Amino acid sequence: MTNTDLLLNLAPERLVQVALERGIDRYPEGLTYAAPEALGPLSPGDRVIVPLGRGNTPTTGWILAVHDSSTDPEKMDSVDPLRVKAVLKKDGTETRLPAQVLSLAEWISDYYACPIGMTLASMLPAAVRKGAGRVTRHYMQLAEDCPGLEALPKKFGPGRRRALEVLHARSPEDGPIEIGELAAEAGLKSKAPIKALLSAGMIRETTRTNVQAAWLERSTVLATDGDEIRPNAHQAAAIDAIEGSLEDGFSRHLLLGVTGSGKTEVYIRLIKSVIAQGRTALMLVPEIALTPQTASRLFHRFPEARIALLHSGLTQAQRNQQWTMVAQGDAQIVLGARSAIFAPIPDDHLGLVIVDEEHDGSYKQDQAPRYHGRDVAIRRAQLAECPILLGSATPSLETWHNTVDLKRNTLHRLPERAPGLSLPNVQIVDFAEERKLFKDRKIHLLGPRLSTALKQTLAAGSQAILLLNRRGYANYIACPDQQCGWVMKCDQCDAGMVNHRAAIGRANTPHDFVRCHHCLTEQRLPAKCPLCSRKITVFGLGTQRVEEEIRGILAGVAQADQIKRVDSDTMRGADDFHETLDRFGRGEIKVLLGTQMIAKGLDFPNVRLVGVINADTALNLPDFRATERTFQLVSQVSGRCGRGDGAGIAIIQTFQPDAPAIRMAAEHDFESFAREELEERRRFDLPPIRRMARLVIRESGEEACLRYSQKLASELHPFLEDGVSMTQPEPCAITRIGGRDRMQILILSEDPRKLRNVLLRARREGVLTPGERVAVDVDPVALL
Ligand code: ADP
Ligand code: ZN
Ligand code: ZN
Repeated sequence: MTNTDLLLNLAPERLVQVALERGIDRYPEGLTYAAPEALGPLSPGDRVIVPLGRGNTPTTGWILAVHDSSTDPEKMDSVDPLRVKAVLKKDGTETRLPAQVLSLAEWISDYYACPIGMTLASMLPAAVRKGAGRVTRHYMQLAEDCPGLEALPKKFGPGRRRALEVLHARSPEDGPIEIGELAAEAGLKSKAPIKALLSAGMIRETTRTNVQAAWLERSTVLATDGDEIRPNAHQAAAIDAIEGSLEDGFSRHLLLGVTGSGKTEVYIRLIKSVIAQGRTALMLVPEIALTPQTASRLFHRFPEARIALLHSGLTQAQRNQQWTMVAQGDAQIVLGARSAIFAPIPDDHLGLVIVDEEHDGSYKQDQAPRYHGRDVAIRRAQLAECPILLGSATPSLETWHNTVDLKRNTLHRLPERAPGLSLPNVQIVDFAEERKLFKDRKIHLLGPRLSTALKQTLAAGSQAILLLNRRGYANYIACPDQQCGWVMKCDQCDAGMVNHRAAIGRANTPHDFVRCHHCLTEQRLPAKCPLCSRKITVFGLGTQRVEEEIRGILAGVAQADQIKRVDSDTMRGADDFHETLDRFGRGEIKVLLGTQMIAKGLDFPNVRLVGVINADTALNLPDFRATERTFQLVSQVSGRCGRGDGAGIAIIQTFQPDAPAIRMAAEHDFESFAREELEERRRFDLPPIRRMARLVIRESGEEACLRYSQKLASELHPFLEDGVSMTQPEPCAITRIGGRDRMQILILSEDPRKLRNVLLRARREGVLTPGERVAVDVDPVALL
């Protein structure tokens, strides 16, 4: 045998490209390994264990591609058979990502600048990886050549004999019997005799594996839908148009409907058609635990359908069970929060993707991969060649820009509330003025207007929802004396100044400063009110404080247990929240007070009053999307009332009664708001006009952080191309988190492909390494 022969014999039959789960970013196509025949069939999307490094440490990875001499002769020739290492084994999760999900991962890795292996790892829930709740059952039957009972030797063990008696007594139609059952029927204390029969070859076993989990409760208590809803003309038009495109491959739709216009009914009708075609509908909602009504409405309307739920409230076993059900192609509807977009619905099954409340910030993941669930959903629909439907009363400006300026989405409007419902009358209250009406020195959070309306609403037998902005007035700087009423505003802009802590997580430091988020002017935090010299306060308040005040106002009007506060202190989990909503639905609770979690998707007909205690917060966040968020919050929360017969009112307390966002939200005028706000973004070339990638540099020590940021900026510079610009490093709005200083660099371009190319090339060259030190956030939703 010559040397060449030897080499040829050693040459692997099959090669695979493997993406390691650890964050190696420089090999987007994966590392090459030999895949011995003994491993059996392998496909892209399989999870395997491979040796890594000098020590050949077993490491988990994902197969991206499989090559053999018939498909890629060149690739086969290009590897050195003496140096290529071999895959050790399959990982045993018995799950494979469908090709579409694999392509999705590659796109996410490229677009959101996250190593491919890390992206894949984040797609597979831990519960599935661990096989939570997976049980394998063993079933017994007689071997073909098992002797009859009469042929058994005299001293054959009595336990074994009884087991055989049971098996002989069964008829063939009974099929194999589960080992535990067999032991019980034969009166055995242990399974040892059965195992002995197995090893003697007298009986055979078959195994079946499935995932067992506690019964997933399908509550429909919260559903308020009647069974016979007849779509109105607007709903019918949207349903017809989208239904007509179900067979036509990829198409994009936006359903713009004021709150209570019956968007869910449109979703339900379309899902019905998809199921009728034998395909699967995938629906994303912001956070299921917070939007329990959507799930219960689906269960209520599809009592027979196989609905898979994927969200964080499930036990590990339930999660694995639901995932497995989807992977096996058994789910007709998949409903879940952000990460459900990775549901392993088999290729070609997916018939429609719906993203409800598409503007919601919770669709953006805040750790790597920092993907946006809505944008990934669009991509997934494109891969699956099916329509995507985005729905909202207050679409994000990204989506609106895509719809009206770029004409990428077909717009369907639901301009009216569903029959019998009317839009609430929204009243804006200037809180700086109202505060002056109080004669005492205490801090009041509900002004006379809201207090009076609250008492009247309850007296009339109706219910109320009160919203406190979580981040509170914490940012507001004001005089504690209501008579004085001074509120700190920027000299140049008509905007409140924002309090910044030099350090997060430390006690008050002398470095507190205030900044205007429009013009970025900074000042020291003043100690005294310039009008009356009282020591100023940074408005901070918790829901508890508001609760006390409300109880005071309602003394004699409502009983103690009719007022309920909903926040992370009072709710131990989703169940608590759901129970509270049930009680609210039954009218046992009259007033619901809470944070953002009660602004989302609630639909209770007897709510006649919605109060926003402080609308300003969002306006004061140092972020160009602050105005947009305020608009969304005010529109969404006022949409929670007037859902039964009889009108509702919404009272919005604010320090900035003239802010256009608040005014237009009060008028339910999304389109005017969006037009003006897009003008504003265009003037400053901000997203969505240009795409943005934000690099956050995190380093201990101000000096070191600055130095590293500058080095990174100068190294990145050569990668910029025409039409791509980059800002100088600057401190983040929150300058320190967890002991590390933070600076940011923004890269902007009108063309998303150019932006992606810059990042990709810098990553391949090792100049940009996303990770602990540098976080890359493409299309960031917050700039804090
Ligand atoms: P949205 O999701 O747009 O806020 P919903 O889907 O919650 O609106 O609808 C609001 C209420 O109106 C629900 O209780 C729903 O059952 C009801 N509804 C929707 N469409 C109709 C219709 N065509 N006729 C009567 N009631 C409807
Ligand atoms: Zn200013
Ligand atoms: Zn004062």
